[in-house]
Amino acid sequence: MVETVRTIPELRAALKRWRQQGETVGLVPTMGALHEGHLSLVRHARAKTMRTCVTLFVNPKQFGPGEDLDSYPRDAADDMAKLEAEGADLLFQPGPEEVYPTGFATSVHVDGLGDILEGEHRPGFFTGVATVVTKLLVQALPDIAVFGEKDYQQSLVIRRLTRDLDIPVRIEAVPIVRETDGLAMSSRNAYLKADERTIAPVLFGTLSQVAENVGRGVNVAEQSEWGMDQLLRAGFASVDYLNVRDAETLDEVTDVSRPARVLAAATLGTTRLIDNVSV
Ligand code: AMP
Repeated sequence: MVETVRTIPELRAALKRWRQQGETVGLVPTMGALHEGHLSLVRHARAKTMRTCVTLFVNPKQFGPGEDLDSYPRDAADDMAKLEAEGADLLFQPGPEEVYPTGFATSVHVDGLGDILEGEHRPGFFTGVATVVTKLLVQALPDIAVFGEKDYQQSLVIRRLTRDLDIPVRIEAVPIVRETDGLAMSSRNAYLKADERTIAPVLFGTLSQVAENVGRGVNVAEQSEWGMDQLLRAGFASVDYLNVRDAETLDEVTDVSRPARVLAAATLGTTRLIDNVSV
């Protein structure tokens, strides 16, 4: 049985019980509308720790004006059924007032890493993510916290903040789970119209091709241009970025002598998709 708690004191009480029994805890933060990608994080936590706590909070602070906070998919009953099936132990599902009570005034910003790529195109996004994840980590103080490489830059931002703020938790990142045609699973894929859904896998296909080409020594800048062009030709409305970056720092690179990652964000119809692959 998955126990559901909605307040921080209840969360702490549940975790304290486990701690007193010497049990280790894995934390899996999500915004719900759970799919196989999320469930792979739950499985990872279950394999690594004795107790798994999933959090479900659609974090208003990481949505910009005009973004999809109100329409973000929500299906608490379906989420609960999936967590039961996966054998999660605890669901922490706080309301906005629990997380951000009146007068809340603190934010966490990761300079540099939080300002580029997604941070540049979604101002305030990583401050919202960093603030809520810091709170969740401090509330639960788990042994590990599990994130998806789907949000690759986010996982680096979270690693950075845990180091900088000395939060004693190990951050683990799990590979991207994809549909059979390559599209990275995402709660937002539900927004895609049927014709857009057939075009969407071109994003992964293009990133894979760019990764393969730069891996073979083809010019990095030329490949970024080529990749953006491919997406626009396939029917994407716009491309925010398609870049080859250092896999650890996300600095721009001109060759792939060190581990690198190809990352992109592009809009199909009105749906913004992100994806990344390693070189
Ligand atoms: P979200 O609910 O979209 O905020 O995602 C919660 C967590 O699930 C984040 O760590 C995401 O990176 C991760 N995640 C989302 N989609 C996938 C996927 N397709 N594969 C692996 N992890 C994912």
